[in-house]
Amino acid sequence: MRDHFEIRDHDAAGRIGELEVPRAGVTVETPALLPVINPNIETIDPGRLRAEFGAEMLITNSYIVRTTDDLRERAEAEGLHDMLGYDGAIMTDSGSFQLAEYGEIDTTTTEILEFQRDIGSDVGTPVDIPTPPDAARERTESDLDVTRQALADAEAVEAGEMLVNAPVQGSTHPDLRERAGRTAAATGLDVFPVGAVVPMLNAYRYDDMVDAVAAAKRGLSEDCPVHLFGAGHPMMFALAVALGCDLFDSAAYALMARDGRYLTVSGTEQLEGLDYLSCSCPICHGHTAEELRDAAPDDRERLLAEHNLHVTVEEIRRVKQAIRDGDLLELVERRARSHPAMVDGYRALLDHADRLERVDSASKGTFFGLSHESARRPEVRRHHDRLARLDVPDSLLCSEFGEPSEHPYDAVWRVVPPFGPFPRALSETYPLTAEVPDRTDAAAERAAAAGVRALAGANPDAAITLAHRGWGADALSAVPDAVTLEDLSEPGA
Ligand SMILES: [Zn+2]
Repeated sequence: MRDHFEIRDHDAAGRIGELEVPRAGVTVETPALLPVINPNIETIDPGRLRAEFGAEMLITNSYIVRTTDDLRERAEAEGLHDMLGYDGAIMTDSGSFQLAEYGEIDTTTTEILEFQRDIGSDVGTPVDIPTPPDAARERTESDLDVTRQALADAEAVEAGEMLVNAPVQGSTHPDLRERAGRTAAATGLDVFPVGAVVPMLNAYRYDDMVDAVAAAKRGLSEDCPVHLFGAGHPMMFALAVALGCDLFDSAAYALMARDGRYLTVSGTEQLEGLDYLSCSCPICHGHTAEELRDAAPDDRERLLAEHNLHVTVEEIRRVKQAIRDGDLLELVERRARSHPAMVDGYRALLDHADRLERVDSASKGTFFGLSHESARRPEVRRHHDRLARLDVPDSLLCSEFGEPSEHPYDAVWRVVPPFGPFPRALSETYPLTAEVPDRTDAAAERAAAAGVRALAGANPDAAITLAHRGWGADALSAVPDAVTLEDLSEPGA
């Protein structure tokens, strides 16, 4: 067990956890957002990050510090915390990004980790190889060999109380990601960044990001804190948390501000095009869109960065509350509606419903059926598994219409798409307290039919009748022939 990370609450594969960072004397509640501080360009004074934005941890680049003479001298003399004027936890990156960008860097894992330790970093990073998406298998494997060696070198460094990252690479090859996850989890290292997802996010390949993270998570163990490295857009936090990501970092808040871009939870706007500010953060509360546009360039950049950071950390808080309330997947669903590529991400998440099902807590808020994707949620799958274990009386009516006053059956069960049948005794238990639309869609009918099939399959000797409200042929074809059908939507029925 990794005793520096404790999970407090669960929803889907998302969790609220506590990451203890011993060297900083700080406990970071996860999911958490780490603002990225470029030591050369301070858009927001790091001294303000903790009190004003609630950031318990930030991330900065030790390679930039080491290769910039005055920064290196100051960091060595004062330590990173005094140099940045920040008393929270500091994670440092190693130069892997520069390595990927420029092909070579002038350091090694041992050297840069010792440097990170010496300047007071609380979480250090080895030099791994961030293999981009779509890389050939051969290249991905040889890059992973280098990363595996970097992790071994990192384990050999006397890190003291500094935690050390064990990055998980593997490009877009799920089996290699999974294997890399297993390799990383087998080390004694502490935090697990899933790397090289930024090119996927920049290209709106949210489904590929989901598959990469899901594969990494299969290799990692549940007690591994997972960092989705380079992911800082609030639009995708709910999705990534539902997969089991615990840490995020944002350079986006500052980079977007430089380009006059205004972040929201459903996308990115150009300040130029905004007549109104739909946010209530201190910046948007105190300024009109016109005032922001007319501000001096430096002020505008800082004000926009502050808004961007406020909206980013606010979404992290919203995600945490959703985990607490047990309606994280409802939030994922709402966020998915903001862009077709996010719908792809949500659909990819549901492809992994079997994994989500294993870690999802069984008792939550109210299940909301919000779209045809809801029929593929892990709760529906779990109910169908349960149906296959339920005994039924000799003759059973499963009805979408409630119990008739007189009937010849031994029992009457309710039918609610997408779940299918269940005994009345379970009506008040999660997820059967669900709120679903009256105007059922085909996917929900098909899922309910799969529930009937599970029940009939487990009870071949029972006489089961299904009274449905005009289900489509597609759904009805999934109901076994042994089940008697009554369509009660027809006139005179
Ligand atoms: Zn705002």
